[in-house]
Amino acid sequence: MNYLSTRGGAPQAGFDEILLEGLAPDGGLYLPERYPHLDLEQLRRMQGLPYAELAFEVLQPFLAPMPPQQLREMLRATYTAQAFGSDDIIRLQPLDAQLGLLGVSQGPTLAFKDMAMQLLGRLFEQALQARGSELNIVGATSGDTGSAAEYAMRGRRGIRVFMLSPFGRMSPFQTAQMYSLDEPNIHNIAVQDVFDTCQDMVKAVSGDLEFKRRWHIGTINSINWARVAAQVVYYFAGYLRSVRKVGDPLDVAVPSGNFGNILAAHVARQMGLPLRRLVLATNENDVLDEFLRTGVYRPRAAAQTRQTSSPSMDISKASNFERYVFDMLGRDAVRTRDLFERQLASQGSFDLSADPAFARMREGMVSGRSDHATRVRTIREEWERSGVLIDPHTADGVAVARRNLEPGVPMLVVETALPAKFESTIREAVGREPQRPESARDIELRPQHFVVMQPDVEALKAYIAEHAGSAAAA
Ligand SMILES: *Cc1c(COP(=O)(O)O)cnc(C)c1O
Repeated sequence: MNYLSTRGGAPQAGFDEILLEGLAPDGGLYLPERYPHLDLEQLRRMQGLPYAELAFEVLQPFLAPMPPQQLREMLRATYTAQAFGSDDIIRLQPLDAQLGLLGVSQGPTLAFKDMAMQLLGRLFEQALQARGSELNIVGATSGDTGSAAEYAMRGRRGIRVFMLSPFGRMSPFQTAQMYSLDEPNIHNIAVQDVFDTCQDMVKAVSGDLEFKRRWHIGTINSINWARVAAQVVYYFAGYLRSVRKVGDPLDVAVPSGNFGNILAAHVARQMGLPLRRLVLATNENDVLDEFLRTGVYRPRAAAQTRQTSSPSMDISKASNFERYVFDMLGRDAVRTRDLFERQLASQGSFDLSADPAFARMREGMVSGRSDHATRVRTIREEWERSGVLIDPHTADGVAVARRNLEPGVPMLVVETALPAKFESTIREAVGREPQRPESARDIELRPQHFVVMQPDVEALKAYIAEHAGSAAAA
């Protein structure tokens, strides 16, 4: 399988070439040149497969140059009961006769990002070994991404993680989850400033090309294609394990921020999975809901992004959205480039409302917005109705899902995190503490490992250079 850029200005590349890359050299995002198609007969044969085998069937074409046996072993080693709590890997839970949860937060950090990141850790390690290289991952996190990355990269050969977080601004649970890791290749850097400053520091380091090359600096942001591909698998698993008959329609609702998770649902549908409608849910940061209502995409600056009680969706520039627009424009790279490069830069927005592509988008995707009051009420109502406790992000998904149910079509809401990560909002909603998995029982009591740093790019560079070890020799 070859990969092409959404902006049409980069040479096609193989999976091994794009795995460790961020943006394509022309500023676009990589996508496979085509989506493999699975018919209903093939889907029927996939029913009942263990998760790792299903993942093999879905992912093999995307990772094609990798020897099949190697991929199979890697998937078996990734999707284990030990890492994800049970042999099922995912968890399906009904809320009522029509609506249910697609639980993909059973991994080590209790959020869906583990589903892809755990595989990415192995893919990166293998790719680096094959080329005899090393990687120093520098990232910024406000919570879930950083811990998922650290738990995926811990102990991996040739990889170090330098993760910046805003000192004292994450939930106590999230803080403990990250800082309690005691691994020589994981560096927690607590910056005495807000998340946006952490992100600016990362950008400054990646923007220094000489430093970046010398120290093999890389990132693991949500535009990485392998992350999207790994997420496609659980839509297949959720569909095949929940429908009465293969071929029946299913709607899915996805709490969204960077558009990565729902893009994976779109890809699954392009591959032939009978998903009928995709329901996109946002929180108060509603750029994507605004687009699906009006046809106008108007990303906001960081300063206009609101801090909410579903913090992992506090995003105002959906980095994966370009891939979806490219597909829905019939893969017209010239137009995609015009929208995302020229129009966004010159006027800060673009308008597709009069384009036939927008009508097609709205046939297959609807949206809605949630806010703090809705979120808290939804957590309480679902708890009282069904005894299922959901996290604040999932609650945004459930609230928007319920507004978009249609007779006769079941819907699954992607459960993007477990409630244990967000105790204070859960307490506000139901007046009790969420249950914790055994593995996290005493997490705040464990010793924490981090360094405190001023918001100073030179200090960050010096720290990286001091701890990046032998990478300098290459
Ligand atoms: C990352 C995250 C999201 C947003 O997912 P995207 O792929 O960025 O749309 C939603 N909920 C939780 C809990 C997350 O960690």
